Parts: sequence; C-alpha cells; structure tokens
Amino acid sequence: MQVFVIVPAAGLGTRMAGPQPKQFLTLDGVPILIHSLRAFAAVERITQIIVAVRKTEVERVKGQIEEFGFGRRVRVVEGGDSRQESVAHALDALPAEEEDIVLVHDAVRPLIDAATIERTIDAVEEHGAAIVGLPAVDTIKQVERTAHGALVTSTIPREYVVLAQTPQGFQYGLLKRAFAEATADGFVGTDEASVVERAGHPVAVVHGSQVNLKITQPGDLELAEFYLKQGRTRDLVTKGLRN
Ligand code: C5P
Repeated sequence: MQVFVIVPAAGLGTRMAGPQPKQFLTLDGVPILIHSLRAFAAVERITQIIVAVRKTEVERVKGQIEEFGFGRRVRVVEGGDSRQESVAHALDALPAEEEDIVLVHDAVRPLIDAATIERTIDAVEEHGAAIVGLPAVDTIKQVERTAHGALVTSTIPREYVVLAQTPQGFQYGLLKRAFAEATADGFVGTDEASVVERAGHPVAVVHGSQVNLKITQPGDLELAEFYLKQGRTRDLVTKGLRN
C-alpha cells in the first residue's frame, strides 16, 4: 500500500488582499507552500506529493521545488477553477491503486505536524476515510441571512460540531468514485470529505490543533510566525531537558 498527498495550491487568495496568492507569501523567509510540503516530505511512508497550481505558476513552483531540494518526490500539475477541480486534476495524475491512500492538504496550512499526518494515515487504514477536525469551543448558532443581517434560527450543541481541517485522507478507490459521482451530479463541495460523505461513506475524525491554522486573512501570518517560534522554543527546551 502506498500513500500519496495532493496539495491544492491554485487559489487566488482574494481574502488576503495582497499582491500575490497567500500560499506564496513567506513565513520565516520560506514560502508557505514549501513549509506545507516539508511537513509531508518528512513522513517516510509517503511515496509522492502532487501540487496543483495555476498555469501561470507552474514554472515558478517547479523552480522552488528544485531550490528547496525535494527532488522527484514532489510533482506539479495544473489546477482548476475550484478547489475540487484542482484536486480532481491531481487525482487523475496519480499512479495509485484502489487500496492506496490519498491525503489532501491545504497549501495554506503550513504548520501541520508529522504526528497528526501519521494519525490521519492510521485512521484511513482503519476506516477508509478520515479528516483532521477541531472540537468547537464557541457556541454554534445556525443563522438565516436577511437583508437586515443574520438572524439566529437555532443553537447547535457544540458536542455535535467539529471544525474541519486538513489533511483529509481517503482510500484512493473510494475518493475516485465519490469524485466521479460529484462531477456527474454537478456537486461542488468546500472540502473532499463532503464529496465522500454524499457518496454515503462514513468519515472518521482525528483530533486537530489550533496551530494547524489556515492562512486566510491578514493577521493570520503573524499568528503563524508566533506558533512557529513557540514550537522552536519548545523543541529547544525539550532537547535541553534530554541533554
Ligand atoms: O479557497 P480555499 O480557502 O478553500 O482554499 C483552500 C486551498 O485550496 C488553498 O490551498 C488554495 O490554494 C486551494 N485552491 C485550489 N484551486 C482553486 C481554489 C483553491 O487549489 N481553484
């Protein structure tokens, strides 16, 4: 059994309002996308990583992959107009078999850690489909959007809610079939799990962390810098304790 990773990185990042898409901004001097790729490259049982980028970015990203020394383990394909289309293009390029595992990870979640990736792979082996999810700490309200703003229609008990993160992992055959059904029905989801859920397959949840944030709006980058520094300090302290 092989494990593949798809990293959709073809978004325009319009919410960040910057001159370039957020996956290409730097965090500690290194592009966000490269941080994300490094996290998966560090996990030995991962065979290959495929990045989907916009056509105009293909050469730049190929150059970065070479510059940061990933070699042949990371490949680049052209993305699509939606995240789902970008993932579908990468899926088509995978040399995978029915029983192999495919993880999908947002390019803009650079602080994912190896232990969470390993736990997600284990959960896919056991359940066929698994996502990283964060238990909700705030009270969750369902609302109706009106011309005068949002109105609360009900309160959803938070023990029934997790906030979906990535990686999201699936058995290759299951994901391929679910994607084919979604395409045939014209369904476009905001994550891969929603595509698999509608195909009727249960999806397990692996405990996530706030550190695995999705860099989406201004301010997120500063928070990511803070977490990165904090992680380094923790590593230094742990090493100091061991010596
Ligand atoms: O837009 P959203 O925040 O859901 O983006 C999540 C991830 O999907 C980002 O890494 C983004 O680059 C990627 N994406 C993509 N192709 C698109 C739109 C988004 O690969 N057309």
